[in-house]
Amino acid sequence: MELAVQTQGLGKRYGRAWALQDCALEVPAGRIAALVGPNGAGKTTLLHLAVGLLRPDAGEVRVFGRDPRAGTSVLADIGFVAQDTPVYRDFTAAELITMGGKLNRRRWDAALARERLAALGIPPDKPAGKLSGGQRAQVALALALAKRPRLLLLDEPIASLDPLARREFMQALMGAVAESETTVLLSSHLLADLERSCDYLVVLQQSRVQLTGPVDELLETHRTLVGPRAGSEAVAGVAKVVRASHTERQSTLLVQRGDGPIDPLWTEHEVTLEDLVLAHLAEADARVTAEAWGVPA
Ligand code: ATP
Repeated sequence: MELAVQTQGLGKRYGRAWALQDCALEVPAGRIAALVGPNGAGKTTLLHLAVGLLRPDAGEVRVFGRDPRAGTSVLADIGFVAQDTPVYRDFTAAELITMGGKLNRRRWDAALARERLAALGIPPDKPAGKLSGGQRAQVALALALAKRPRLLLLDEPIASLDPLARREFMQALMGAVAESETTVLLSSHLLADLERSCDYLVVLQQSRVQLTGPVDELLETHRTLVGPRAGSEAVAGVAKVVRASHTERQSTLLVQRGDGPIDPLWTEHEVTLEDLVLAHLAEADARVTAEAWGVPA
């Protein structure tokens, strides 16, 4: 299995605070991977390390097996759209495409960018600053795709878009990468939008990786169980209770399945990606708070 992004013990520190710590993850080539986590979790830091904009203070990051800071050869394989879709606002889309061609002499598919923008009805001759936020996001994506990258890193590309524009953006992204076999790693807070499009998950919380793996496997190995009010006793068929909530008579558990069938006292439900991520984030939060207070979580 070829790995598009691989990190080991990766860390980045600002002063004494770690923005990313002991990060070990693998994103296989060909995946559309979601990088999720709360504000300040370290998502932007990880993306900047992967594109070589930051130097690690610990560990290493490899993109297709190469160090992104060791020469420019791997950078030619990476497309990167930073947060807030920064494009030069005085330039038109047509001018930005021409400029991209001058900056990426080795490989630049100007026709692809023009066709994408025409298909989306985005005027090529209007300054980018006068386009809507959604249109600017599409211009930034078209420019990144014109580079024909093997890895596309997107930092919150859909944050400023309305729900319809978000869906259109994700569909356009999926269509574009399916044709080109590009690997994508995109950060976002919008879990519901990612469920339809992403097939790999990386959850960061407080500078650490909390959960990572193929989405279908993660959904398959987790269940929500509803049953009679429970204490801390083990439930047959459950490897780990990630999150528990209780009413007077009933308990709801989000669990990681173990071997064998689940105790029939419990009703099993499939989980959504949103349930899964939120449960793991809440569990990690409780653990960190407990550690800070020196009590078991
Ligand atoms: P958001 O979802 O809000 O964009 P994020 O997950 O992308 O957050 P990062 O931007 O990677 O988070 O920040 C991780 C941590 O590093 C935060 O605590 C942040 O305050 C800190 N940090 C990031 N950049 C700097 C910097 N240039 N100087 C000092 N601290 C920084």
